[in-house]
Amino acid sequence: MTAPQRTGRRQAAPAHEPLDGPGETTAAPRRTVLMNPGPVVADERVRAALGGPDLCHREPEFTELMSRVRDRVTRICGGGDEHTALILTGSGTSAVEAALTSVVPADGALLTLDNGHYGRRMHDIAVAHGLRSHRLDFGWTVPLDLDAVDRALAADPGLSHVAVVHHETSTGMLNDLAAVTRVAHRHGREVVVDAVSSVGAEDIDLVRDGIDWLAGSANKCLEGMPGLAFVTGRRAAFAALAGHPRRSYYLDLARHFTAQETSGAPAFTPAVPTFYAFDTALRLALREGVPARRDRYRALVRLLRDGLERLGFTLLLPPEHRAVGLTVVRLPPGVSYDALHAPLKAAGYVIYAAQGPLAEGHFRLSTLGALTTEDITGFLDALARTPAVASTFEQGGTSR
Ligand SMILES: *Cc1c(COP(=O)(O)O)cnc(C)c1O
Repeated sequence: MTAPQRTGRRQAAPAHEPLDGPGETTAAPRRTVLMNPGPVVADERVRAALGGPDLCHREPEFTELMSRVRDRVTRICGGGDEHTALILTGSGTSAVEAALTSVVPADGALLTLDNGHYGRRMHDIAVAHGLRSHRLDFGWTVPLDLDAVDRALAADPGLSHVAVVHHETSTGMLNDLAAVTRVAHRHGREVVVDAVSSVGAEDIDLVRDGIDWLAGSANKCLEGMPGLAFVTGRRAAFAALAGHPRRSYYLDLARHFTAQETSGAPAFTPAVPTFYAFDTALRLALREGVPARRDRYRALVRLLRDGLERLGFTLLLPPEHRAVGLTVVRLPPGVSYDALHAPLKAAGYVIYAAQGPLAEGHFRLSTLGALTTEDITGFLDALARTPAVASTFEQGGTSR
């Protein structure tokens, strides 16, 4: 036997030595139930897709993959024939930053609606790029005041765009996107939506809601792997961005539109394996359907919230404002986040700290991703058994 043939169209992968040496292992660890809002627990088929073939992103095979992903993203957002999506290699924030810095014309400015961490982040992104942002600070957990939005737009014709977060993941609050869009459009302004933690599960429809720009990511409600984000909008509106100031090189949507739409290749080296995974995740999402996914999340979150309240915990938001994907829970008096996090992690469940003004006294539980009923009941059992909880709610939860 000599060296493998180099002339065939396809070659088998070369045989290799096992990677494990003494004290090293590549064995898969046991499943961890992630209750942080992304990256989420992935379906096995999504994880397996990561192992797709090596592929040059300037070959027709990648153009095909990218087009399919763009098309599926557009459809899951409720886009019509006039809509399209641009896929960026980056986390959700890259899509938010790309949208904010690309869609505002030279003489434009943002009205940024802030009722939590991610609303504030949109304002901070604008400031970092020298974009004018008028921030309406409603306060964490406070619903958006549409009259205040109306007044601000009436008072300042220079505010060309309204920036709003759909699901404010810092508090678990679902903002009324359609209502914000109605007010903005009445004033002839466009809307930029951070839908990173809502698109794929919450009720969003580009056509019905008239959303101008939507930023999302692969690894929250769409249940893909981390590393890809996207912006959707009308194709004609993307084309018109060419006349806007270029505030960023890498995140310039005019550049990405030309590359993906006209040239059929990404502007820069993409996360190819993550594309494979996202393609599979989108197929699963479209097959399930957004309403069914929302129902699945809702059933899990109901189980979780009922169980928490039975144990004696109280939840931050009133039910009518809660998104299906995240729950902010009050820490019982005298119980620290660490006292819950460490034993739960040891039991296989990763919980998530709260941010900003909620950091003290609260923690967060995400129900995004491929979680099961058993994951939630197992979590509730593990939570009840943590020493801090067991000693706080001794009689099975009547100390509330
Ligand atoms: C997760 C999230 C983001 C983006 O976070 P990345 O870490 O950049 O992926 C942005 N907005 C909201 C509302 C989010 O939940």
